[in-house]
Amino acid sequence: MLGPVLLAAARSDRMRRVVAAAPVTRPVVDRFVAGDELSPAMDTVRSLTASGLEVTLDHLGEDVTDKTTARATRDAYLRLLDTLRHDGLGTRAEVSVKLSAFGQALPDGGHDIALANVRQVAELAAEVGTTVTLDMEDHTTVDSTLAILRELRREHPGTGAVLQSYLFRTEEDARALAVAGSRVRLVKGAYKEPASVAFQDKADVDKAYVRALRVLFAGEGYPMVGSHDPRMIAIAQDLAARNHRPAGSYEFQMLYGIRTAEQRRLADEGHRMRIYVPYGADWYGYFMRRLAERPANLAFFLRSFLPAR
Ligand SMILES: Cc1cc2nc3c(=O)[nH]c(=O)nc-3n(C[C@H](O)[C@H](O)[C@H](O)COP(=O)(O)OP(=O)(O)OC[C@H]3O[C@@H](n4cnc5c(N)ncnc54)[C@H](O)[C@@H]3O)c2cc1C
Repeated sequence: MLGPVLLAAARSDRMRRVVAAAPVTRPVVDRFVAGDELSPAMDTVRSLTASGLEVTLDHLGEDVTDKTTARATRDAYLRLLDTLRHDGLGTRAEVSVKLSAFGQALPDGGHDIALANVRQVAELAAEVGTTVTLDMEDHTTVDSTLAILRELRREHPGTGAVLQSYLFRTEEDARALAVAGSRVRLVKGAYKEPASVAFQDKADVDKAYVRALRVLFAGEGYPMVGSHDPRMIAIAQDLAARNHRPAGSYEFQMLYGIRTAEQRRLADEGHRMRIYVPYGADWYGYFMRRLAERPANLAFFLRSFLPAR
């Protein structure tokens, strides 16, 4: 019930100011975000990779409204990639980008601006020996994001895509992307979408997730199972066995701070397990989506407002 309200709040500037200013918010944010700056985030990355996990880093930010901020996002990623190179982490850590932070929504030529900015990131990522994955945002951005993916994959075939099972179109997109060399993260979807384009019932979203998983595991690409849902994880393991996929021909992905024991368990069983590590000062939208998708996360946040006992 509260989910749609929180997702609407995730895009409200007024709510952003209220939530960000609340002194009790920070410890709860720290559960999901690896710091405001690159340096603490890198401490997290070093400790995760040293323990056998892999990482995808997200410099937080979205919906930028001017070219200067879009270029600042690009520069933040270039700094991040330089740091990964310096630390020799190119084989264990990649980056995830939100194209809206690269200028995709700018009124004049936003698509091309985002492409030019992200291309530079993909070029440096290739030099560092790693990859870029294009996060998927609300449904109005899907065509542009998949077109940018196609462009980047010409030079950098390992560029990853994200598909959201709540969208009606996803099974078809999965078929188109289940080709050799293609990396596809399948998620359920985190935005508030209308009934004209997306399933509204959780059961339908789950069924669609399984359908798309089947397509990806049967195809020739590299499936990335982005879910904390034990049922989806078990089904993915079953599909890997049925399709005779060895470990390393697919991976699991979970968000930083969520189901850490399960992350460990999958890695200890020999699966590739990648943790999505967000960092940066612009954590509000990401944080609100995490509250929206799970009542327990919201309860944890609200409890932090109670006086300490
Ligand atoms: C690596 C990664 C990248 C993502 N990238 C994108 C993206 O680019 N675009 C996008 O729209 N969305 C993205 N998402 C978010 C995604 O769309 C979902 O909103 C989010 O993952 C919640 O869905 P779920 O599949 O984990 O399971 P849900 O349907 O939320 O939960 C199913 C079950 O999982 C278990 N579970 C879930 N959370 C917890 C928890 N905190 N503690 C314990 N158990 C839990 C519970 O058993 C729960 O019943 C990403 C998610 C991941 C993991």
